Amino acid sequence: MIIKISEWKIYLSILFIYLIFFLPKELNLSNIIVKTPPLGQRVVVIDAGHGGIDGGTTYGGILEKDINLKIASKLKDYLLEKSDTKVIMTREEDISLDHLNNYSRSRHTRDIRARIDIINQKEVDLFISIHVDNRLGQRSMRGPVVLYSSRHKENKTIAETLQKHLNNLGYQGVEDTKHNIKRRNDLYILKSQNTPGVLVEVGFITNPLDWELLQKTHYQQALVEGIYRGIEEYFSGFKFFKEVSF
Ligand SMILES: [Zn+2]
Repeated sequence: MIIKISEWKIYLSILFIYLIFFLPKELNLSNIIVKTPPLGQRVVVIDAGHGGIDGGTTYGGILEKDINLKIASKLKDYLLEKSDTKVIMTREEDISLDHLNNYSRSRHTRDIRARIDIINQKEVDLFISIHVDNRLGQRSMRGPVVLYSSRHKENKTIAETLQKHLNNLGYQGVEDTKHNIKRRNDLYILKSQNTPGVLVEVGFITNPLDWELLQKTHYQQALVEGIYRGIEEYFSGFKFFKEVSF
């Protein structure tokens, strides 16, 4: 059968309309969720702030160091479960790190320098330091805030990406908080020479709701998932989930 060029155009148009409008419905493509590529062999340092003799901030019988370690450990588990990322923890138990060097007579300085040494290792791509904030004079302050320094140009992007996901936690009817990132060039832990990264204040221990939520396993997990989404988006440069719509 010989088909004229004009007829070809008609057949092609029909095929095109079919592919665009009908095939996706038959295959139910509208429900497909495309996951971004895995994180690959990235190396992330997770720093659980304080530890041992240094409890960090405290309020109402709970210590910052314990919350930091729980969230840091959950973040490690989640990264290992969801990606091929290599995770290095600055601590995995209730200890301080000041015994690891003799840089200073100050216990606190030795502790921070030990963390920086771990973060500064050549193969490390990113660090996330976990802390809890307090605001006794402003007890209504709650929700996670990401701090960054201008030491590396990527730091601001990392902070913005994590903050975006943490601003939309969506935890069991608790109203999301909308914080802006904060630049803090005075914090020693943010002065790492070789590695970009941020400090996440996961909440305010002096706020009654945060005080309660930060002790709940499910809320800790929600925070971890927010941080994870930020990490993945930063590494991939894409949205975490992309809905394909026709
Ligand atoms: Zn702290």
